[in-house]
Amino acid sequence: MKTNYWSVDKNVDKEESYSQIQQAADLLRKNEVVAFPTETVYGLGGNAKEDSAISKIFAAKGRPSDNPLIIHIAKREQLDELVEKVPATAEKLMDAFWPGPLTIIFEKKNGVLSELATAGLSTVGIRMPNHPVALQIIEQSSLPIAAPSANRSGKPSPTKAIHVKEDLDTYIAGIVDGGSTGVGVESTVVDCTDEKVMILRPGGITKEQLESVVGEVKVDQALTDTEIKPKSPGMKYTHYAPNAPLFLVDGSKEKIQLLIEEEKQKGHRVGVLTTKENKAFYRADFVYACGKRLDLSTVAAELYDGLRSFDHQQVDIIFGEMFPTEGVGQAVMNRLMKAASHQVIK
Ligand code: AMP
Ligand code: MG
Repeated sequence: MKTNYWSVDKNVDKEESYSQIQQAADLLRKNEVVAFPTETVYGLGGNAKEDSAISKIFAAKGRPSDNPLIIHIAKREQLDELVEKVPATAEKLMDAFWPGPLTIIFEKKNGVLSELATAGLSTVGIRMPNHPVALQIIEQSSLPIAAPSANRSGKPSPTKAIHVKEDLDTYIAGIVDGGSTGVGVESTVVDCTDEKVMILRPGGITKEQLESVVGEVKVDQALTDTEIKPKSPGMKYTHYAPNAPLFLVDGSKEKIQLLIEEEKQKGHRVGVLTTKENKAFYRADFVYACGKRLDLSTVAAELYDGLRSFDHQQVDIIFGEMFPTEGVGQAVMNRLMKAASHQVIK
């Protein structure tokens, strides 16, 4: 299929942007699937009420059918059509963090959403993205829009339209290019159906931010113990992996340089994932500086572009630095550990 491509200005009120966004929204209303920017990563949107649209999302991504999709809305009023009830804690979290990178799990109203979108669960994950293009597309479609990340399953999520093109060109009806996304990692997924809020997936809203609004927050144990079954079905899958094996190194940059030398002697092309502070230190075939260690939000913003860049450099092996797990560092380390299939060199 021919993939339509629109480059839009973030200023969606401009006449040209408005008409491009309308074309994308029209395709969504025709149950086609379209990629668009959000503040976290690019999403692949489809009509959340229609099986035919949702099956196109799963097919284009090659996504396992037991992994439910997050439903995106543009207005608080859209929520009431989709969920049975809104717990008081959820209300507080929405007031504090919507629009924004927070997905809340609700008990779903039966018979409204496609069963494929929710993977047959009795619950549904919903968020309101904080990006003018995403909000405008959803609003003009007048639909709840299911939108997982717009990448082939298993690959790093797209933070630029070119990443979407690399993975999904000719598989989807359109790509709306609105420039680089901001946060760079996906939304935080929380369950508020119990008394205490529980993080099922770390993301753009940190545990510390959640706790400032609702008090103590639990974290699904499966996030740190790989023997336990995660409460969020998607968390059991390997994700974000570059083509070459990635090893995280729990040690100094001198230690990493020694590992690089060993691999070079074997005739391997070696990549390093580091930050701006340490970039000049390493002698390797390809060194990617992913943001600044002193500001982990910059690391999050560039992480997926970094992981993808190794695929263009034909490296045989990648060594990566590790990060503290405070703030957005929790999401960064969660994604890195998955990208590395939990291989850590001590
Ligand atoms: P993605 O859209 O690829 O960023 O992934 C969405 C994440 O949200 C996956 O980990 C899903 O398993 C999770 N998710 C979506 N709906 C639910 C739900 N009803 N209960 C628990 N996790 C969910
Ligand atoms: Mg994804």
